Formats: sequence, structure tokens, C-alpha cells
Amino acid sequence: MLSIIIPSYNEEGNIKHTADVVSDILKSNNIDFEIVFINDGSSDSTWEKMSAVALERDNISAVNFSRNFGKESAIFAGLEVAKGDACVLMDCDLQHPPETIVEMYNVWKNNDVDIVEGRKKDRGKENILYKGFSLLFYRMINKTSGLDMEAASDFKLIDRKVVDALNRMPERLTFFRAMSSWVGFKTEKVYFEVAERAEGESKWSVRSLIKYAVNSITSFTSAPLQLVTVFGVITFIISIILGINTLYNKIWGNSAAGFSTVIILQLLTTSIIMFSLGIIGFYLSKIYEEIKNRPRYIISEIVTKNKSEKEKEH
Ligand code: UDP
Ligand code: MG
Repeated sequence: MLSIIIPSYNEEGNIKHTADVVSDILKSNNIDFEIVFINDGSSDSTWEKMSAVALERDNISAVNFSRNFGKESAIFAGLEVAKGDACVLMDCDLQHPPETIVEMYNVWKNNDVDIVEGRKKDRGKENILYKGFSLLFYRMINKTSGLDMEAASDFKLIDRKVVDALNRMPERLTFFRAMSSWVGFKTEKVYFEVAERAEGESKWSVRSLIKYAVNSITSFTSAPLQLVTVFGVITFIISIILGINTLYNKIWGNSAAGFSTVIILQLLTTSIIMFSLGIIGFYLSKIYEEIKNRPRYIISEIVTKNKSEKEKEH
């Protein structure tokens, strides 16, 4: 069985339509499936729409978050709730074309692969600024983590093995795109054209995108912290060169009294301070991540046709 996981935030106009389109395509291809909708604390009637379809049909469940936890948390909640032998993550706005699910399914079924990754042929309609930032963002991730992420998306089919591996990862700040590469496994690629959003508008504000970028980078690499250490090393090297220079000037007699000592001390202490700050930063970040042992999300209820679980906490 295939589980289709669909995080949704203020998607009241899309729920029913997406459920229908996905169901029709999978049924006509004889694929046994379930749909798991996750309502990420929407402020519109998304939850009403969602729980209504879940009550109406056997193979659809609806998970409700107690507030907006973000798409990342919704993805991981979906992975925990899904029961399929493989899971597909897709957006509610049909920007990830449902026909591609069938293609992914066939690749997974007929080959010995565990992850079928949807890669964007082009980035769809986006403004230049956004394109520029996402390019910079992915370059940074590529360089620091060694994962090729540029055309990556959250549109993926992952085998039960991978789902279990991801569910076992205890970290709180998650970055699905990178984590699903990080776990390894045999991966195959499928290309898709980003469609236009079906209904409503994009849920990402500039602020939430910046937050997402910073969160993803800091939860996946400590490169920015290492930068402080690198700067420390650079100032140290400069301080040695300048130190030799000032000593030379002092010895061969054309410097003001006391000047050399001040310069050397200043350079040396700056580099030592920077270097130690970098080291402290390292430990600080580790402790920070360990100590915040919070749940990734809180589910307030789950609705399926047969049962309704209330206030289940993960
Ligand atoms: N989404 C979510 N929580 C959020 C923001 C978005 O679950 O806080 C969902 C949204 O409902 C959609 C998917 O994530 O299914 C992608 O969002 P959107 O289409 O707004 O992003 P874009 O396609 O512009 O990247
Ligand atoms: Mg979208």
C-alpha cells in the first residue's frame, strides 16, 4: 500500500479537489493507497473540509495539529501516522503533479530502490529575488553538507525502511529534504514540471522563508560557527605578520615608544578571543540542540472513518 502524505495550511479550497484528483489517478492505475492529510493549524475551514472527507471515505485520514508547527513538522507527523509500504510526500496545491506519483510508484515497484526523488525541471514561476536567494541557499547547503540539493523538492516517494529510519531520528529541528538524503539508501530520480498553484496563494512570507533557511542551515551544518574559528585563525596569522613587522620597526629604531607592545597585544588577544568564542559556540550549539527535548509537534485529534483519537501526543 502507498501512503500519500499531504501537509496543508489554509488550503480550504484545495482539500476536496486534491483528494479527488489523487484518488482518481491512483484508482485508475490500480494502486492500493491511503491519503493522510495533516492540518498544520490552519485558520480557515481546512480542518472542517479535511475531517469531512476523512469521515466520508475509508482510505483518507485527517490529522489535526494544535497550532501551526510548520510544514517540516507536518511531514514528520505524516510519516509517523502513515501505514503504507511506501510514502509519498506532496503539496496540497497540486504543484506536485499527481501523475508523477504513478511514475514514482512504478520506479519503486519495478526496481530495487528505496527513495524516488522528485526533481524540478525548472523552478516554476518565481520572482528573480526569490530565485537568487534559493540558489544561494542551496549552494551553501551543497558546499557545507555535500548533499546535492539544488533541484530537490519535498516531493518524494520513500520506502518503509527509510520512513522507519527517519522516524527514529530524534532531532527536533528537522529538514526533510536534507535528512532524506542523509539517511542514504538507493535513490532514483524522477523529473517533474512545477505546476501552477491550484487555489489560494503561497503560504511562505519572506519572514518565514528566512526563518526556514536559517533553521535548515543551522540544523544541518555548523559551518557558520566554524567561520568564527576560521576568522580567529586568520587574525592570528595576520597578528604574527604584523607582530614581526612592529618588532622589526622597534628593534631598528623608528617607532613611537610603547606603540609596538599595544599593537602586538591587541592583535594577539583579538585572535585568541575569536578562536575561543568559536570553540564555545560549538559546544553551545550542541548543548542547545540536546537540551530542547521537545516534541516536534502536538496532535490534537485524528479522524478516520472508523476511529477518532483525541489528544494524542508524540
Ligand atoms: N504548508 C504547511 N504549513 C505551513 C506552510 C505550508 O503545511 O506552515 C503546506 C501547504 O499547505 C502546501 C505546502 O506546505 O501543501 C507548500 O506550501 P506552499 O504551496 O504555500 O509553498 P510553495 O509551493 O510556494 O513553496
Ligand atoms: Mg505551493
